Amino acid sequence: MESDAGIRRVAVLGATGSIGTSTLDVVARHPGRLRATVLAAGSRVDALLALCAAHRPLHAVIGDETLYPALRDGLRDAGLGTRAHAGDAALQALVAGDDCDTVVAAIVGAAGLPSTLAAARAGKRLLLANKESLVLAGELLVEAAHAAGALVVPVDSEHNAIFQCLGTAGGRATGDGELRRIVLTASGGPFRGWTRERMRDVTPAQAVAHPKWSMGPKISVDSATLMNKGLEVIEAHHLFGLPGARIDVLVHPQSLVHSLVEFADGSTLAQLGLPDMRTALAVGLGWPGRIASGVEGLDLLAHGRLDFEAPDRGAFPCLGLAYAALEAGGTAPAVLNAANEVAVSSFLQGRIGFLSIPALVEACLEALPPEPASSLDVLLAADAQARALAQARIATGTLSP
Ligand code: NAD
Ligand code: MG
Repeated sequence: MESDAGIRRVAVLGATGSIGTSTLDVVARHPGRLRATVLAAGSRVDALLALCAAHRPLHAVIGDETLYPALRDGLRDAGLGTRAHAGDAALQALVAGDDCDTVVAAIVGAAGLPSTLAAARAGKRLLLANKESLVLAGELLVEAAHAAGALVVPVDSEHNAIFQCLGTAGGRATGDGELRRIVLTASGGPFRGWTRERMRDVTPAQAVAHPKWSMGPKISVDSATLMNKGLEVIEAHHLFGLPGARIDVLVHPQSLVHSLVEFADGSTLAQLGLPDMRTALAVGLGWPGRIASGVEGLDLLAHGRLDFEAPDRGAFPCLGLAYAALEAGGTAPAVLNAANEVAVSSFLQGRIGFLSIPALVEACLEALPPEPASSLDVLLAADAQARALAQARIATGTLSP
């Protein structure tokens, strides 16, 4: 599906965010090979316009439809030929259309599911950062990609590491019994080593101050609660076809070993590098080749040491809640994800405390027992129900199960 000139035409969904910005940095390094043809953002019109001026895409999409006139007029006033669009239906059509062959799915949260699914169904090369869509509807998404022949390259540092360790086949192609287990590394977040009691009064500013990675606010809070690692366990299950029992988590504070794969013969392969998402993005954009990302090589002598420790599941209950939701199956991961999105957003707004995040997720999982996830509609209904319940619990202050 590449154009005659062999230029990869890239749609960047969530272009104004952390992953979007890193993507455009890599794309701009390869003018003869890569071109950003579609840029999409949620509501930051000015930031989107600035990106359009810099990257000259064919299309720009703003999620909030009330902002369409601002985008259209801004593009016109800047003398740009970029066409303005608004809303998720327009985004899905563009993602599935002929003006892109590669889609970077980097919208945050379940809001990214429809466009991610559209890219998979259209058989596009899918650089998948939006882990929430896999947690919510992993089976459907993976099946859709498989049916359409879409290459899915995970753009989560851990899963990208595993993808690389599994070789050019990537993902599920490893034969039965060859893969013993996966080990996902975790930085441990800003509160590594803290007791639950000490975390009671942490502020949003403390929670988003990640020690190793620069990321958007939602995933930064998820990293602080370890829910991010929990979501990643579920993500790994869908991407690599292993049960939760064969997906382990190891805290590695330096964030240089991005994950490990253990094979039947006792070999363990790991991928190492500096904590910079441009590496994972360059893997996805260049695969199976290797292209420059702007990231320096790793000077192990300068770093000196690599430490590993077990996660503190008592202090960080979100990790166990995610394993339990994966084990329960059906709609449970959708409930986990939705309750967490509401809880994190409320925490960032100062409406609930940090420890209320796991309490709220647990309460929703207990109140909404899993049902078989027979269709997308069932999953979306579970997502909506969990959001409503979480909002109601926050409004009434009844956060615990
Ligand atoms: P971010 O908050 O920095 O950016 C989010 C982007 O999504 C913004 O461009 C925003 O405009 C857009 N957006 C939000 N709602 C939208 C909507 N309804 N319609 C269209 N666009 C919408 O987040 P981020 O850190 O870049 O993370 C994006 C995704 O990538 C998340 O799912 C996150 O878990 C995943 N991820 C991020 C990192 C990282 O290093 N930042 C690493 C691994 C995975
Ligand atoms: Mg990650």
